[in-house]
This record gives sequence, structure tokens and C-alpha cells, in this order.
Amino acid sequence: MPSLLFDTTPGGAGNTIRIGEHLEAVVEAAVDRVDGCECGPESSCYACLRTFRNERFHELLSRREAMVLLGALSRVSN
Ligand SMILES: [Zn+2]
Repeated sequence: MPSLLFDTTPGGAGNTIRIGEHLEAVVEAAVDRVDGCECGPESSCYACLRTFRNERFHELLSRREAMVLLGALSRVSN
């Protein structure tokens, strides 16, 4: 599964490098947050996937779909 991370900070803040260096821990933390949330599996909330910055996609964000993606990332990061 091809994927791409990029830093939106002008000049870069080094976040993508740090994420790449600790991908397994990042994926585990994301799984804990998404899998442990109490909102519906076909939806999302501010405790799991929603932020102000992704507001226009809120109705499309699904914890179940996020777990599929995180499962694939977990296989890559191990
Ligand atoms: Zn949630």
C-alpha cells in the first residue's frame, strides 16, 4: 500500500521524519485512540478522528474504515 506523509510547515518541522522513525508506536497509539472510542463504528467524533482542520470531511470519517487503514499500517510498521 503506497502512502505518503508530508509536513505542511514551511521548511518542515521534522515531524514526518520523527513519525517514520517511530511508526510502530505512532500506529499503536492511533489504534488505541480509534478502537477505544465510544462513538459509533461508522462515524467519528473529536475524541478519535475529528479535528477542526478536517471539519469538511467529518461526515465521511469512519472509525471502522480507519481501523482497516491502521491494520494495514500496522503490518507495514512491524
Ligand atoms: Zn470517536
